Amino acid sequence: MKSRSGSLATSPVVRLPAARAAALTLLAISLAFAAPGCRSPHVAKAPVEPLAMTQYEPDPADVAPPWLAEPLSWEKLNKVEEWAKTQGPRAAPLWRVEAQLVLGLGRLEFARRDGQSKPTAKEAAELDARVRAARASLESVVVDNDATAAQRRRAEDGLRRAERLSGGTYAKAKQTSGMGVPVIARAQWGAARAMVERMDRAQGEYSRITVHHSADPNPVPLDGSSARTFEAVREIQKAHMNGKTTHYGDIGYHFVIDPYGRVLEGRELIYQGAHAHGQNNVQNIGICLIGNFDKTVPTKAALDALEKEIEALRKRYNIPKRRVYGHRELRSTDCPGAHVMHWLESYRKS
Ligand SMILES: [Zn+2]
Repeated sequence: MKSRSGSLATSPVVRLPAARAAALTLLAISLAFAAPGCRSPHVAKAPVEPLAMTQYEPDPADVAPPWLAEPLSWEKLNKVEEWAKTQGPRAAPLWRVEAQLVLGLGRLEFARRDGQSKPTAKEAAELDARVRAARASLESVVVDNDATAAQRRRAEDGLRRAERLSGGTYAKAKQTSGMGVPVIARAQWGAARAMVERMDRAQGEYSRITVHHSADPNPVPLDGSSARTFEAVREIQKAHMNGKTTHYGDIGYHFVIDPYGRVLEGRELIYQGAHAHGQNNVQNIGICLIGNFDKTVPTKAALDALEKEIEALRKRYNIPKRRVYGHRELRSTDCPGAHVMHWLESYRKS
């Protein structure tokens, strides 16, 4: 069954609109019944397959991209990158996802090969950058609703390989840059794919940090489990991207901290945040604590994590303590709540 649905999913004639997943399931079911040994006189003329075929007639966008069967080379990766930019947006989701997958796995493979010949410090930094780029592509596949199960598995495989590769260089660089707090990656909490066309690239180095609270009037009730926290952060992301007044390209904050001291990656730092309004977002890292701290006192675990994260970011970007703000210092708002504001004031004096 695996190989059947696999070859079906890569067939160039399957069109892939929004209901693609449902259609594939239907087709998979019809194939299961059509498989030798499953055929019975009663289901021999199952109408499911022709129905699905008329609903999803071939479309020019579904024609397999020209790079699909090419062996791995830098030339191929350049071609795929160009294709993803120019034709990707109009192509069937299957091919758009495939392009990300090929880019991610390809970069990873080259990083592995180049890393075998004792790289210099500068080369190691380049390899790390390549592994990071590969991870970003693969993570985007894992959380892409259009990815097939097989594509997601290949991406997850790649991410595990990336983890092993970066165990030497990348992880070490992370430690020495003072990133003391383990950060839960977007793919882990199930972030929706960012709409990069709605975001600005970060301009220059970060020079300040602003702390917020989520103060959701209808918060997801937390119970200490990561599942609930992840759900809460997905809800914040959803509200930021599809809100009544906000249509951000992604969650607005760069980091989110839960009451149990978990730090979650928000919007990637290569993009300017959307948390402090207009110009205030420029070179400003946004950190949000989950809760309402006008009403409740933040937990020690949350404040410890906040302090560690602030310290790590200050070291990394050379940000002075006095440039760590509470949101209300930049504009008229209650955020981040009196209790967190109080903590920030004493932190800056410490
Ligand atoms: Zn705020």
